Amino acid sequence: MAVSDHVNLEQFMVGVEKRNPGEIEFIQAVREVSEDIFDFIHGKEKYHEYQILRRMAEPDRVISFRVCWEDDLGNIRVQRGYRVQNNNAIGPYKGGIRFHPSVNQSILKFLAFEQTFKNSLTGLPMGGGKGGANFNPKGKSDHEIMRFCQSFMTELYRHVGEDTDVPAGDIGVGAREIGFMFGQYKRITNKFTGVLTGKGLEYGGSLVRTEATGYGAVYFMENMLAAQNKDLDGRTVVISGAGNVATHAAEKVTQLGGKVLTLSDSQGYIHDPEGISQERIDWVKRQKGIVRGPLSAYADEYKGSTWYAGEKPWAVPCELALPCATQNEMNGGQAKMLVDNGCIAVSEGANMPVDLDGVHVFKHAGIMYAPGKASNAGGVAVSGLEMSQNSGRISWTEEQLQQQLKDIMLDIHDACAEYGEGQLENGGCDYVKGANIAGFVKVADAMLAFGVV
Ligand code: NAP
Repeated sequence: MAVSDHVNLEQFMVGVEKRNPGEIEFIQAVREVSEDIFDFIHGKEKYHEYQILRRMAEPDRVISFRVCWEDDLGNIRVQRGYRVQNNNAIGPYKGGIRFHPSVNQSILKFLAFEQTFKNSLTGLPMGGGKGGANFNPKGKSDHEIMRFCQSFMTELYRHVGEDTDVPAGDIGVGAREIGFMFGQYKRITNKFTGVLTGKGLEYGGSLVRTEATGYGAVYFMENMLAAQNKDLDGRTVVISGAGNVATHAAEKVTQLGGKVLTLSDSQGYIHDPEGISQERIDWVKRQKGIVRGPLSAYADEYKGSTWYAGEKPWAVPCELALPCATQNEMNGGQAKMLVDNGCIAVSEGANMPVDLDGVHVFKHAGIMYAPGKASNAGGVAVSGLEMSQNSGRISWTEEQLQQQLKDIMLDIHDACAEYGEGQLENGGCDYVKGANIAGFVKVADAMLAFGVV
């Protein structure tokens, strides 16, 4: 980066920090993207004149609202709900809803910002948004979840719609929650439309949506390896998380001949040196998804495996890593440990799981490293296909959708390579830079076409 670009970047970031005080995750996400974009827009006057990056880093709107609900004991509970509509230059806002006690405005603004680039990368006409609430679904009864979802949608319905903003699931929001929210939307509006994705197959959902994010992250890994004439077969793989993304990533790795050594949840990680087979993955899916119990029980179920309470799995030596739990779950020191232990490629299933220091470690080491906005875009891509099926009132087959998912992940890989090839110090492909620029260009050019709005 030229010295003048570096000065401009730092001045830009001072403004971002001033306008978004204390919003650590949002500032981190804007910085990570801006480091690459400032370089790219050097000498491209229109992007400067029209303040494109500045406008992208200011959400179109941030909606925050009270969500009141009654628990099973008759207590009145109050939560805060949000929808962040970041940018709709290339299509309706689109992005998940997260229910987790850590949810706040900064986290949702970072996710909506990232989503704008991710959705652009899919090649489908979708803008970027994200929403959620600081509600903890853990330990709640089905009826409590239903009452919360209904109350959440009773406000959200006025801000969303199949041509306006189409939310989906995320952490803490799966098929059950989407069902309750869709039911309430339909009841309030008297419309049966594709206002949410990730719906059940009986009421407009798409095949392959559930698996798409995890499978897609592994396809992206496969594409990176193939670009270096390598493959996944026989390789050791460390995965974090034990939810939707992690379990499906583990499933696809196993199908392709890789050996999954770990999974984790918020309490610690499980190390299974024998490899977490399909049967064991199914046990985890049931334990976390239906029983809603702790992952630690895996060690009692499968002898030879070990539970590490309160720790992350990054110290386990492996060739490939897929962080699939949550943001900032790996720091610079942990990234270095992975590299030192022989890891050659990282594909992010989660959003921003590696902090900025960690990103710099991977780039400097010159390993293959795919940022979530590229590698976990398979989920929203199939959500886009769900929207197409809903508006066309058609259903594609599993085979058609699996193929489309693979094709889209390859296209995203190639788009990243177009801008990232040869950009690392060792001459390798900088997938972070590639994803940031490829995602930026389409949205930026659409914004230029609209003038000052
Ligand atoms: P999920 O099914 O709710 O699973 C989340 C997993 O992460 C759980 O194992 C959870 O453990 C763990 N986790 C949550 N917070 C944590 C924390 N602070 N520290 C350690 N572990 C934590 O969610 P998901 O859909 O798999 O989403 C995982 C990640 O992928 C998120 O970053 C999400 O934004 C991203 N993503 C998801 C999709 C999608 O289609 N679902 C698409 C794109 C990106 P506990 O069970 O103990 O809470």
